[in-house]
Amino acid sequence: MILVPGGRKCYCGKKGCADAYCAASALTDGKYESLELFMEALSEGNTKAQKKWADYLDNLAILISNLRMAYDMDIILGGEVGGYLADHMLALGEKVMEYNGFDRDIRYLKNCTYRKEASAVGAAKHFFSEFIKNI
Ligand SMILES: [Zn+2]
Repeated sequence: MILVPGGRKCYCGKKGCADAYCAASALTDGKYESLELFMEALSEGNTKAQKKWADYLDNLAILISNLRMAYDMDIILGGEVGGYLADHMLALGEKVMEYNGFDRDIRYLKNCTYRKEASAVGAAKHFFSEFIKNI
C-alpha cells in the first residue's frame, strides 16, 4: 500500500510504500543497530529518537486508518515494532482518531500477544497441533 506518493524507496522497488515507513527499519535505519537500541534511546528521552517515533506513529496511524476504512475489521498490531506498541497505544490511538472520522474509539485496534518471534510461534503451533492429533 502506498502511504507517501513519491516517498522513500521500498525494498519492492516502488516508492512510498507503507513498509518503508512502518517497518522496524524505518526506526533503526542509519543510526541504530537494532530496534531494541532505538527503543532504549526513546525511553531515555533522546530527542531525535522521539521525533522519529512521533513521525513513525503518524505514518502508522495513517496506515491503520486506511486499513480500517478499506476493510472495516479489527487490526492486530504485530511484527517487530508491534511488540513495543503496548506502552504507546494512547498516543497511537489519538493519532488514529485524527484520521478516522467514522469510529468513536479504537477498540478495533489490538496489540499482538507475542512480543518477539510471533511468526515462528504461529508456524510451530500448527505443527505442534498436528503432532498432538497423531499421538
Ligand atoms: Zn514496497
